[in-house]
Amino acid sequence: MLDRKLKVAVDYEKCHPEICDKGVCAAVLECPAKLWRQEEPYDLPYPIPGFCEDCGTCVESCPLKAIRML
Ligand code: SF4
Ligand code: SF4
Repeated sequence: MLDRKLKVAVDYEKCHPEICDKGVCAAVLECPAKLWRQEEPYDLPYPIPGFCEDCGTCVESCPLKAIRML
């Protein structure tokens, strides 16, 4: 069975969307599986359960190291 558990998390003490380009989370832009959401630019991002590829792209994309693998 395919595993759709949440595999990544944000440390909201480190996340500051205002430092990201136009307030858009880099993980939203770069996750190949489109598992990151932001209601609006400058809002806090969050991951959704889905078919995470364990690629680590979201972790590497965050300039503030606010994203980690679970
Ligand atoms: S890239 Fe990092 S700092 Fe920017 S919004 Fe996403 S999690 Fe927050
Ligand atoms: S590890 Fe890869 S597939 Fe999984 S949420 Fe991060 S960028 Fe997306």
